Amino acid sequence: MQDVEFEVFKTKSEEDKYKKFDLTDSAQRKEYFEYKAGPEIAKLKDYLKDNTFIVYLLGKKSSGKGTYAKMLKEVVAPDKIEHLSIGDMIRSFDEVLRDPVKKEELIEFLKQKYRGPMPLQDIIKSMEERSTKVLLPSELILALTEREITKMGKKAISLDGFPRDLDQVSYSLFFKNLIDYRQDPDIFVMIDVPTNIIDQRVKTRVICPLCNTSRSLKLLPTKKIEYEEKDRTFHLICDNPACTGARMVTKEGDENGIEPIRARLDKDEVLMGQIFKMHGISKVFLRNSIPVNQVKEYTDDYEITPEYSYSWNEKTHSVELSERPWEVKDDKGQTCNSLMPPPVVVSLIKQLVAALGL
Ligand SMILES: [Zn+2]
Repeated sequence: MQDVEFEVFKTKSEEDKYKKFDLTDSAQRKEYFEYKAGPEIAKLKDYLKDNTFIVYLLGKKSSGKGTYAKMLKEVVAPDKIEHLSIGDMIRSFDEVLRDPVKKEELIEFLKQKYRGPMPLQDIIKSMEERSTKVLLPSELILALTEREITKMGKKAISLDGFPRDLDQVSYSLFFKNLIDYRQDPDIFVMIDVPTNIIDQRVKTRVICPLCNTSRSLKLLPTKKIEYEEKDRTFHLICDNPACTGARMVTKEGDENGIEPIRARLDKDEVLMGQIFKMHGISKVFLRNSIPVNQVKEYTDDYEITPEYSYSWNEKTHSVELSERPWEVKDDKGQTCNSLMPPPVVVSLIKQLVAALGL
């Protein structure tokens, strides 16, 4: 964000300068978390035996909210924390509305629970047409979110996509009463990611046409890379174990980067500014970027996102990979490095423990 600056969180280890982890490897990632936040993870696990919390993830579209939340769940307590993406929830209603029995159930539920100015039949119609012109009213989003949370049983929740609009900020302040989590703390997690990082992520991402896994030739390659001799290009091959593997492709429109979502990003920024000013709520601040002149003091080398480039070795007939720290300008024009997701999650875990008073 331009007007508020989040502090840089120190994840650099003072103990062993030569210890290194490959943060793209799931086994090493596990060791890394134990090494950097073992005691805090233990405290959270212990807390979650009898208690819950609600975390609101606030960040611009594509700021990595889902990635951080899923990693937190995986690292701390997969069976005690649920991640709820409002966007995914809304999309899941496409299927519900095509099934006459489920559709009837949903309508019955909404007749009981939905109260708001827009007629219910208009809402259902616009959901069926997947119309983006009519914004689903906040009262509806609330009723549906409450329904999902009730289905989960009493668990800690990370909410991604709520509050999404200014009117929803006020709702969120009373949301834990609505879902009967009265005694349990709620914490607003604010994520700051430079616009250029989002732009580059969108522009360089590729997806698998078979399983939709998303990667990036520049920032997050797969293990297998193919070289196309006729136009001298490099291509990622999907390595999702559940997929048969295919050449990954750019999604139409991604070459435009953030241009199509700029209005959305501006709106997200206003929303975050509003929450930032709120009194009486616990806040956690996460930042994805660190000015290059502070990197050595605050992080270990392997915590920084690398940028990959490729060359074709004629002799060995193989693709050669080289990497260097990815440099990008933040919203103030400073040159920054970008953190890999695990150190951001270490900062989240430590700040959560502090916010919960553990
Ligand atoms: Zn695939």
